[in-house]
Amino acid sequence: MSCSENNKTQSCLFDVHSHIGRVERARQEFMDVTNLIGKMDAWGIDKACILPLSEHPEGAYLEADTEDIIAACAHYPDRLVPFCLIDPRFGNRPDMDFTDLLAEYQARGCKGLGEFLPKLDIDDALCLNLYRQAGKFGLPVLFDMQDHPFGYGIRDDYGLPKLEHTLQICPETVFIGHGPTFWAEISADIPAGQHNGYPGGAIQLGGAVPRLMRNYPNLWADTSAGSGYNALTRDPSFGLEFADEFQDKLMFGTDSCRRSDINITAPIVAWLRDLRENRKLSADALEKIAWQNCRRLLGI
Ligand SMILES: [Zn+2]
Repeated sequence: MSCSENNKTQSCLFDVHSHIGRVERARQEFMDVTNLIGKMDAWGIDKACILPLSEHPEGAYLEADTEDIIAACAHYPDRLVPFCLIDPRFGNRPDMDFTDLLAEYQARGCKGLGEFLPKLDIDDALCLNLYRQAGKFGLPVLFDMQDHPFGYGIRDDYGLPKLEHTLQICPETVFIGHGPTFWAEISADIPAGQHNGYPGGAIQLGGAVPRLMRNYPNLWADTSAGSGYNALTRDPSFGLEFADEFQDKLMFGTDSCRRSDINITAPIVAWLRDLRENRKLSADALEKIAWQNCRRLLGI
């Protein structure tokens, strides 16, 4: 299946957020492109974007860089779409020129920049410099936000003021939100100690994520990982309203990076299937979230 406008009658699934690579320091688990295709087939996913991580030292837990991703996607050009990644600290100056790299990656088929997760504030000057240049190339930036001093993930304060600042001063760059801190901010009420967690229960209206997605055309989001799934399902009626309101900028994604995931059905795949089979969301909204938004944003 090609997930093209020509087969509108069929349901497609386009995963905007997947990975291959050698996992964690022990490196005992390696998910290669064949494993990924097997998992996509098992889950009914037609196309997927593959995101590199290891340009960031913080991303070294999943070893796959842009060159690995481009080479892997070349084996399945009809099903896999490469993203590229550049560390914003490359050159360590806020006016570093990344034009050559971005032009080369784009010419070799890369459709976005990510997964962007350095342990910096999201509006750090080095990051803003890279976002602006990615925007000039029409490459959306997919970020993982984790407000924690260690590990990986860009940072922001409660209420996401730095993300708002970023959206304001990089209007030409589309950002795809992801990660525990981003999704905790779907609710106005975040329990103590849960800004980088998976808060459950009813969502309090007035959260930063709906406010920013409403106010800034350049903020999109993907459904991926435990954080996206939790945010969309912890308060089922709110989750449906959110998916309906943002049906033009929410994209299906899994963030699956383990070979063993083939033995389960990703909860987010089951969620989408349930919405479809039980007609909980309009058919138009479902098709947009499942594949059309991704295709439109990436120009595929
Ligand atoms: Zn990821």
